[in-house]
Parts: sequence; C-alpha cells; structure tokens
Amino acid sequence: MTEVQIGAASVARIEESYEPNFEAATFFADWRPERVAPHMAWLAPSHYDPASGMLKLSVHSWLIRIGGKTILIDTCVGNHKPRPKRPLWHMMETRYLERLAAAGVRPEEIALVMCTYLHMDHVGWNTRLDNGRWVPTFPNARYVFSRADYEHYLALEREPQNRPAVHGAFRDSVVPVVEAGLADMVSGPRAIDEHLTIEPRPGHTPGTVAIRLDSRGAGAVFCGDILHHGIQVYHPTWNSFACADATLARRSRRAVLEHCAGTGALLMPAHFGDLFVCHIEAAGEGFVPSF
Ligand SMILES: [Zn+2]
Repeated sequence: MTEVQIGAASVARIEESYEPNFEAATFFADWRPERVAPHMAWLAPSHYDPASGMLKLSVHSWLIRIGGKTILIDTCVGNHKPRPKRPLWHMMETRYLERLAAAGVRPEEIALVMCTYLHMDHVGWNTRLDNGRWVPTFPNARYVFSRADYEHYLALEREPQNRPAVHGAFRDSVVPVVEAGLADMVSGPRAIDEHLTIEPRPGHTPGTVAIRLDSRGAGAVFCGDILHHGIQVYHPTWNSFACADATLARRSRRAVLEHCAGTGALLMPAHFGDLFVCHIEAAGEGFVPSF
C-alpha cells in the first residue's frame, strides 16, 4: 500500500485493479512508437505493457486521514456493476473493501466521499448491492459531487438515445446517493473544510474538478483524470479519447501541472502506475515528474 504524509494528513492508496487495460494507441491519438520510444525505460513494465501494447492504468481511491476525519477520494468501479461495454470492469468482484479494512477503516467511518468527476471508475463504490438494491456503501458520509457533472449526466439520462448515462454508473452509483439525501452538489471554487479545496478544472468532462489538500505548508492535488497517465506530464497537450473538450482539457491539465511545479504540491493521480504519485518540475514546454 502506498502511503504518503502531507502535513498532518496521511494519504493511503486503496487499490481496486492494476493491470494492462487500455490499448495505448487508441487511448492517446498521439501515442506513436517514435514519440514514446524515449520514454520506454520508465514506461515498462509499470505504466505500459509492451507485449500487448496496453497502458497499465491503476484504478484506486485515495484515503485521507486528518484530524480524526476520514475521507475517500474517487471510488473506482465497484462490485457487481453491469458494464457490458467495458468487459474488464463488468460485474467486478474485487477485494476493495477488504483492502480498505486492511488500511484500518470500516465503511461506516468514512465522513466524506469526494468524486473528481462522475465517470464509472470514480463513482462505483459510492454504492453496493443490498438485496437487489443499490445502497450507499458509506452510510455516514456526505458525498461531494460536482453540480456541473451531475446536471450534465442528468440531462443525458433524460434522453432515450443517451441512456444509460456513463454505462449505467449515473443510475446505480450516483442517483441512489442523491435519493438517500447524502449528496452535496458543489460548483465553483469551494473550500470543503480547513484542508480541502475544490477547483473547477473542466475539459475531460464539464464538471471535472481538482481537489487540493493543504496542511502545515505541505500540499497535494488530487487530479482525477485531468491526467490519466505519466506520459501526459511530459506531453501535457495529449488528450485521451475520453476528453470531452480538447481545448479546456489541455488548459486544465497545464494549470494543475503549473500549480504543482510552482508550489511543490504532490500530484495524486487516479490512474498513474507505480509509484502512483509524483512531484512536478517545469522543463521547457512541458514538465517532468520527480520522486
Ligand atoms: Zn478515471
């Protein structure tokens, strides 16, 4: 388990899956042999599987403990969720909750769940199956959702040609939380408490946010899918196939990288491979990770 200290906060990585899962050249239109060859020494085997040509994207949550409060950022894919168009994520049965328990946390102890946006690999454990119904996995938590993303997917869900929105994740992993009265919708920059701040970083989706953690002069940025993969540190203009607004996605990615490079904040991505987190240094037109 990766665990880092940010001021008074300890932050642990709770893994759901870590395996080759997306074809690199499909995921990034810019992924070409001559462009990635200079990076191969660090790409393989933790970030890329040369044998299959697949990216190796981790899917994990970040568990923050600070001042007696326990917070979960991004909740992966979840168990038993039908995702037939994503076979690797279809009807998963992982030991995610056991890994959370191994980190010393029961679901009842989570006070706050924050999703950097509302795609299926960031909301899944918001709910669990209980006698055929999707119920909140963390019954004592407030769940913080981006209002812009919520309204975007709510609108899609109302259009028959777009249902089910986000492969069904909106219906089984977001709506039950809202119906249970546990959701807080936020828009604009917003301080969540004395340590956590939400910053709108639209582009990947309309409501994508970065979450900043600041404690005792140390900082971290949970960037969700503003960056999917370490190659985007070197090439911040590279969008994934899933970035909804190409221009905004690039602008938001650069803003996050500039913040980390300028302040020394640790970058805490949702999908980078081992070592999973990095510091950022400016280098020419792009950036380089440092550890
Ligand atoms: Zn993701």
